[in-house]
Amino acid sequence: MRFVVIGGGPAGNQAATHAAQLGVEVTLIERDIVGGAANLGDCIPSKAMIATGGAMSYLRRIAGMGVLAAAGTVDLELLRTRITAITADLERANERILRSQEVEVVRGTARLDGPNTVVAETEAGERTFEADAILLSTGSRPRVPEWARVDDDRVMITRDAYPPAELPEHLVVIGSGVTGVEFVHMFASLGCEVTLIVSRQQVLPQKDPEVAAVLEADFARRGVHLLKGARAIGVERTPEGVIVRCDDGRSVRGSHTLLCIGSIPNSEGLALESAGIDLDPGGYVGINHHCQTVVPHIYAAGDLSGKLPLSSVATMQGRKIAEHVVGGHSVAHRHLNYDNAPSAIFTEPEIADVGLAEADAFAEGRKIRVTKVPFAASSRALIDNDPRGFVKIISDPATGVVLGGSIVGQHASELISVLGVAVTSGLRVADIVESMPVHPTLSEALSEAAE
Ligand SMILES: Cc1cc2nc3c(=O)[nH]c(=O)nc-3n(C[C@H](O)[C@H](O)[C@H](O)COP(=O)(O)OP(=O)(O)OC[C@H]3O[C@@H](n4cnc5c(N)ncnc54)[C@H](O)[C@@H]3O)c2cc1C
Repeated sequence: MRFVVIGGGPAGNQAATHAAQLGVEVTLIERDIVGGAANLGDCIPSKAMIATGGAMSYLRRIAGMGVLAAAGTVDLELLRTRITAITADLERANERILRSQEVEVVRGTARLDGPNTVVAETEAGERTFEADAILLSTGSRPRVPEWARVDDDRVMITRDAYPPAELPEHLVVIGSGVTGVEFVHMFASLGCEVTLIVSRQQVLPQKDPEVAAVLEADFARRGVHLLKGARAIGVERTPEGVIVRCDDGRSVRGSHTLLCIGSIPNSEGLALESAGIDLDPGGYVGINHHCQTVVPHIYAAGDLSGKLPLSSVATMQGRKIAEHVVGGHSVAHRHLNYDNAPSAIFTEPEIADVGLAEADAFAEGRKIRVTKVPFAASSRALIDNDPRGFVKIISDPATGVVLGGSIVGQHASELISVLGVAVTSGLRVADIVESMPVHPTLSEALSEAAE
């Protein structure tokens, strides 16, 4: 059995490693970063920048804990070196793991040449691989609208901002989804003036309004300007910076602007037609619940598959594909359920959720029990001088089974794992209550919300 993987992000890496562990002969072809251009080029650097912003916020917060410290300043060159080092370490670690499993790693740009052949353009020339199974996991890249010309300097996409050449005096962030609000938080924490263009009346339009309200309150406290109900339609460079024009006639002047308006799949150049695979209207490769395309031995995963664009989801798809390649689906196994994927937004406070959302349950007319505990009642949150946010648990009133939950507050991205296990495993609220969390910890709020 020979398995060829195109693209070495979380989806491709995991599929290659796990398939090799299961005894498959694997080749992984990557044109850029082993570990993923979106993963190691965007996800990790953005979190590293947020960690530095968080350190700055911490310095401000500890004044309330009796510590008098200098406000802190950020050295952009040190920050750049740190981010480059983290990414390089992770790339080396990925390569080590792949090689330890005897995965052949090929540096090059790959495409299909029929249903069982992959061709890679490498520095040494073209190489051809015959395959019994193929994974397309080529990821995505930031979307740039026709009305903006990115210049890496003043008009940026996310990858230009880790960190930019200089800290913006006034950054105008376009797009108020997850990426947009994380960058607002990041640059506001670093001391920049920030304006966020919000096309609707709420940041994070897909999220629970109560959750979005906590974030908006934090932005207001930090002096972030929100331009609501405005859609950006043009960006103009001026000698001093940029002007962003909106569809309602308003415009904002800033020193820099950052486009956070989604991503597009890397599906061109793969010669999918040679294997009879079509793209959907968004340019994604359609898959079934085993991540198979219309050609059963050709799989697609990660951002290219148009499911949830998260590293965690890509990784799990990769794992399931490896098992499917060796016929693991014929024994008892759990299907990947995208509805149960936890997700987090690394703002301050952090926001995380999993499973059924309260608003969706109401929209469906579904009976639910909602219990909520604020962190203001948590001894640990008070000790840490950060009592913002809450834990909300949604359960089935008849059975007590946990259906979903939201956490807003410090370490929400870690705490949500408990609810993730509960939702995936069908645990009841009583199981959480009886788990006896350590005292004093933020986890106690989970038990209290489950009461
Ligand atoms: C700013 C930002 C922050 C994010 N933060 C988070 C986060 O906090 N948590 C989270 O879970 N997710 C986050 N994401 C999303 C996450 O990065 C992606 O969902 C994830 O990386 C997708 O994995 P992938 O394997 O599909 O793609 P990628 O990680 O992009 O990997 C695909 C790889 O395929 C390679 N490739 C493409 N075409 C070819 C070809 N023809 N031949 C060979 N190689 C090819 C690319 O070079 C790339 O390395 C973030 C994304 C962005 C933009």
